[in-house]
Formats: sequence, structure tokens, C-alpha cells
Amino acid sequence: MVSIGILGGGGFLGSHLLAALLSRGDFQVEAVDTTFVKVATSHPQLVLTQGSIDEPGLLAGVVARNQIVVSTTALCNPSLYNTQPAEVIHANFTHLVPLVELCVREQKRLIHFSTCEVYGKTLPAAGLNEDLSPFLLGPVAKERWSYACAKQLLERLLWAHGQHGDLNFTIVRPFNVIGPRMDFIPGIDGEGIPRVLACFMRALLFGEALPLVDGGRQRRSFIYVDDFTEAVLRVIEREAACRGQIINIGNPHNNTRIDELASRLSAVFASGKDVPVRRVEVSAEEFYGAGYDDVVERIPDIDKARSLLNWEPHTSLEQMLAPIVDDYRARYQPQAAGEQ
Ligand code: UDP
Repeated sequence: MVSIGILGGGGFLGSHLLAALLSRGDFQVEAVDTTFVKVATSHPQLVLTQGSIDEPGLLAGVVARNQIVVSTTALCNPSLYNTQPAEVIHANFTHLVPLVELCVREQKRLIHFSTCEVYGKTLPAAGLNEDLSPFLLGPVAKERWSYACAKQLLERLLWAHGQHGDLNFTIVRPFNVIGPRMDFIPGIDGEGIPRVLACFMRALLFGEALPLVDGGRQRRSFIYVDDFTEAVLRVIEREAACRGQIINIGNPHNNTRIDELASRLSAVFASGKDVPVRRVEVSAEEFYGAGYDDVVERIPDIDKARSLLNWEPHTSLEQMLAPIVDDYRARYQPQAAGEQ
């Protein structure tokens, strides 16, 4: 039995990963988070540790108790990058430095979730490659890049310990993972602006127009959470092949304009009825405030994931939207109806 600690095990990606690990049967899982409302299961091979990673002694205990640590904790919501940049830098860099040091000292394997944001505004956006593409971040005053910069520096720290010491690490770079249990609905179980999927679902549930930032011309390559989770399981299982590697995990086949996502999601929400799509254009400044900056497009090169993991993402946008809508309806429809 392999023991594995998941930092952020109560979050969107962490909760899907822990369910998949438990269904494999050969893992003892310690999930660490401040809340576990997204974890539906109690299981003999699952232990929940409630706490924040910056609490004294918490990381030391998790590293001591487990053979592998997967770090998924992050402040990874673009609306925070320019409104709480110091917190974003600490959550994504400062608070994780002790984790890296503990894994070096205790000789534990560390699988770290970084981000496709590290590529920044790099153009052309097609085929962003782990070992070849340069990073291009905006100026300091464009605080959007506080997140990418913090994540990039942590990657460089891991790389330094891997190359010049003997840290056994793998960096995963997720590209716009979406699925059930993602984020929160403002006014129901959180405040602020979530990622685009939850923003659109909120508008649909409340019967409002879907906000298209700067007209929704930006594109993202969306990967379904089940495809993402399967890739991470293979990273966990293929230790030798993945040691010291940075691996993009995304779906280049689902490169979609945001206004198209709005239309398709609205159609699925209307369950085939011919309801007009309600959309409203908002400027980025109005929606996110000063210091926001957008990414026009980002398409992953996943050749490395294909060859190291013998993996391919299979779920099209069309296939993933129905289960996502069903999940949000089941969790939020009654409250949304009550608020109207
Ligand atoms: N966006 C939008 N309407 C919203 C929320 C986001 O048009 O209600 C846009 C946002 O400007 C960005 C894209 O959707 O271009 C993807 O946003 P997301 O929140 O998923 O984060 P990102 O991919 O930029 O990290």
C-alpha cells in the first residue's frame, strides 16, 4: 500500500484525485484541507486532516506520514491576482517553500500542480511546450501576472533541487480543467468572481445574461476533470519516467472561444429547448478591476504526456457540458430558486 498525502484534497482537483486513488484500491490517502464539503466519501483508506498549510507543524506531519505528497493548494482564481496579489504570491510560493525543503530533507516524492499561466502571453499560443517555450509575463503593474510569477519561481526552486540535489519531483501544468464541483457560486457558497465556468453557471441559474469579458473573443483549451485525473494517476504510477519532468496536461482538441462556451453551455442548460442565449459584453477593467490582463489563447503541446503516460484526453466539450450542468443544478438550483 502506497501512502499519499494530498494538500488541497478538499478542493476541485484534489477531491477528484482522491476519489480516483481510492477506487484504484492500492493507496492510503491523507487529504489535507480547510474544508471537505466537496469530499462525499468516507473510506477505510482515507484520512482527513483539517488545517491550513501555513499552520506550524502541519506540513512536517504530512511529509513524515506519507511516501508521496501531491500539492494542489493554490489561490488560482484570476479575480484575486490583481485584488489580493500579496496573498496570491504567499499562497503559491512562500507557503510552499517549506514543503519543498521538507521533501528534500525527508527524501519524499513531490508531485506539484503548477499552471499553464506560467507561459504568460507567449505567442504563438499553439503548442506551448514544457522544455522549449519561453515565458512572457506582463509588467509588474499588470498584477494579473503575480500568480504566474509565483508559480514559475516555485517551479524553478523544484527544478534547482532536482538538478543540483536529489529531490524526486514532477511538475504538472494543468490547462483549464473544468468539471463537476469546480469553484463556487457567488452569493450561495462563496463571494467574489470565480472562474469562467462558475460565472456562466451562476448567470444561468439566476436567469441573468452571461458576462463576456471584452466580447468573449479569448480562447481556452478546456480539459475534462476525469481526463486530467487519469493523467495524474499515471504520473503517480510511473515514478521513474516522470522524475524531474514538467508535464502539460490539457486537451488541445477543445480550443474554444469564450463566447462559444457561453452559447454551448446555455444550450445544454436549456435542455434542447430553443431559448435565446442571453449575453452581455463587459470590459475587463469593469469586470476584474485595474491591473487585470488577459491571455488571448493557450493551447498545450501534450506530446510529452502522451509518450511518458501513454495517455490521451478523450472528452470533447460537447460530452463534458451535460454532466457539469447536472452537477451544478443538483447542488445549487434549490438555493438559486429561493434567492430569486
Ligand atoms: N471570462 C468571461 N466571463 C466571465 C469570466 C471569465 O468572459 O464571467 C473570460 C476571462 O476574461 C478569460 C476566460 O474567460 O478570458 C477564461 O477565464 P477563467 O476564469 O477560466 O481563467 P483563465 O483561463 O484566464 O485563467
